[in-house]
Amino acid sequence: MITKRIVLHFPHRLADQPIVYKLVKDYDLEFNILKAYIAPEKGGLLVLELSGEDKNYEQGIQYLKRIGVKVQALSQDIIRNDRRCSHCSVCVPICPAGAFLVEPLTREVHFDDSKCIACGVCVKACPLRAMEVRF
Ligand code: SF4
Ligand code: SF4
Repeated sequence: MITKRIVLHFPHRLADQPIVYKLVKDYDLEFNILKAYIAPEKGGLLVLELSGEDKNYEQGIQYLKRIGVKVQALSQDIIRNDRRCSHCSVCVPICPAGAFLVEPLTREVHFDDSKCIACGVCVKACPLRAMEVRF
């Protein structure tokens, strides 16, 4: 038996396909959706806790990769070093989970880590290296 937390990146063409249902039906896996984000034009992201027999789990992951879903382990947390952040807002439009919000009056950028799906996009994009991966 195996249980893992994973992030699935869906291309647009797969966004309305019953992929998770197939994992349950064809591979006898159990799932718990931790977070989901669908952008109609861009595809979607799903953070799942997935469990099942080792062989079924591996076959389920192979199925996902075969149809074009990118599978990433969710083994990391993203934190912001507030002393470095200059509130430049570069991260705001690029975060697929909408974890950054600009305060309208002060223009300060707030980071809501409960929305973060640990995709790592902001870590690479932040010019001041304020977003960090904590393993
Ligand atoms: S890109 Fe970096 S410095 Fe700019 S607002 Fe985001 S976290 Fe702060
Ligand atoms: S890692 Fe950064 S870009 Fe990715 S979801 Fe978290 S806050 Fe957003």
